[in-house]
Amino acid sequence: MLGLMQDQPLLISSLIEFAARHHRSAEIVSRRVEGDLHRYTYADAAVRARRVAGALDRLGLAFSDRVGTLAWNGYRHFELYYGISGSGRVVHTINPRLVPEQVAWIANHAEDQVLCFDLSFLPIVKAIWSKCTTVKHWIALCDADALPADSGIAGLRSYEAWIAGESDQYDWPEFDERSAAALCYTSGTTGNPKGALYSHRSSVLHAYGAAMPDAMGLSARESILPVVPMFHVNAWGIPYAAAMTGAKLVFPGAALDGKSVHDLIESEGVTMAAGVPTVWLGLLNHMAQHGLRFSTLKSTVIGGSACPPAMIASFKDTYGVTVLHAWGMTEMSPLGTVCNLKLHQTRLPAEQQMAVLVKQGRAVFGVELRIVDPDGRDLPWDGQSAGDLLVKGPWIIQSYFKGEGGDPLLPGHWFPTGDVATIDTDGFLQITDRSKDVIKSGGEWISSIDVENIAMAHPGVAMAACISVPHPKWDERPILVVIKKPGQEVSRQDILDFYAGKIAKWQVPDDVLFVDSIPLGATGKIQKIKLREQFKDYQLPAG
Ligand code: ADP
Repeated sequence: MLGLMQDQPLLISSLIEFAARHHRSAEIVSRRVEGDLHRYTYADAAVRARRVAGALDRLGLAFSDRVGTLAWNGYRHFELYYGISGSGRVVHTINPRLVPEQVAWIANHAEDQVLCFDLSFLPIVKAIWSKCTTVKHWIALCDADALPADSGIAGLRSYEAWIAGESDQYDWPEFDERSAAALCYTSGTTGNPKGALYSHRSSVLHAYGAAMPDAMGLSARESILPVVPMFHVNAWGIPYAAAMTGAKLVFPGAALDGKSVHDLIESEGVTMAAGVPTVWLGLLNHMAQHGLRFSTLKSTVIGGSACPPAMIASFKDTYGVTVLHAWGMTEMSPLGTVCNLKLHQTRLPAEQQMAVLVKQGRAVFGVELRIVDPDGRDLPWDGQSAGDLLVKGPWIIQSYFKGEGGDPLLPGHWFPTGDVATIDTDGFLQITDRSKDVIKSGGEWISSIDVENIAMAHPGVAMAACISVPHPKWDERPILVVIKKPGQEVSRQDILDFYAGKIAKWQVPDDVLFVDSIPLGATGKIQKIKLREQFKDYQLPAG
């Protein structure tokens, strides 16, 4: 016997219409590429999303056709999210930090029909437009009078002129909730990038999950600043979850430096923010240098790479801001776990709470976790046993776009994350490494994340990365590559001494090397492959 409730498809268009009706005056504020602040409401955004949908119909785009975007976080990008997916097409967010050849490769692979871009990415578009064989329409996200006359791009149009004549009304089509809604390519650290193709169903379910109190805790009382880009896993789903809950949205545009982010938090009464650790490093440095405070910020979701405990402590102790350490992947829409204490942990002394808060947290309902040994046998959830992390759930990938890379799943629909983790008795996950970054010394694993986190707590260290180098006896040994904080003197020995009593002696790096920069990928993560390449001729000190 089937249940007797309505079988309403979960569609992205319903999110913006819900927000327009129930949160019509809730604000969406955007720092524009032009430098000024743009301000309107969910009701206004819905009108313009409907116009985008009408404009796509007029271009003759078919169901499931891909529309590419090269854009910062802002209101026009937000309208595209809804206009494209809501009308049954697929929004394909492209990471503009990739090299132009990769952007062209991805646009061709996705077979984008239209490409919408912020004017700051005009140089990329100029370099690639003639190589993008499927793109028929180029749209610059600007007013008609800001359109560059001499771009050389055939048929270039301004977004505002493109949607100007369209109706404010649009009948959003109803279709199978499993239809494709959004496409996002992984950063392709190994081989060509692969596309994760989200469905309407997976995106709406993920938005429910992300909004829950023990996940990001979004509500109509929050003002949220997604610093994490809309071209990186849909800004962690915040544009959907914010519309679902009626949270005020604050988009930072291109200005991601510490001063701009702090100004925006203060001027817009931001209560929660979300982004990768490198962005917060810039913010915290700026605040320390200028003796600044937060007046409204309560929490910040940090993920994408391990958040150093020193950063969690600094947010909490100096500024009274709770860090919600989160873990996920492009293949997981991206949310897997978020770190929020359980009732019994709220009664623990601060130090013991901190030991929990540095972990990546607990699974959001909708994500199942397992850790297994190399033979695929389940490991105990004891907080000690580290194994390969497997996941499954309704917003986790089944197959890459166009079947690229073959079937990624293990038997039983488990997706291997490529991360190595422990899980404790309370279900808190702790990532110890990516499997390809694991350091194996004398048959024992050394967590590069642990080694980095300790170094990051040293007052003289701005950034630290731990990599392995070959060793004749131990197979591999860790070394640490460090960027010093400006104006701080710190020696190799200072840092090595700093490890005393914090980890086992054999886990302490064999050497510390100071550099001016560490290679970061297009999503702000340390590129260990490049770093290993850079130090491939390095010789360990004798002894
Ligand atoms: P890519 O895999 O293309 O670099 P993703 O954004 O999908 O891009 O990265 C997912 C990976 O990032 C995870 O598999 C994990 O290794 C790492 N990661 C994400 N969040 C965290 C975190 N909080 N702590 C440690 N590693 C993290």
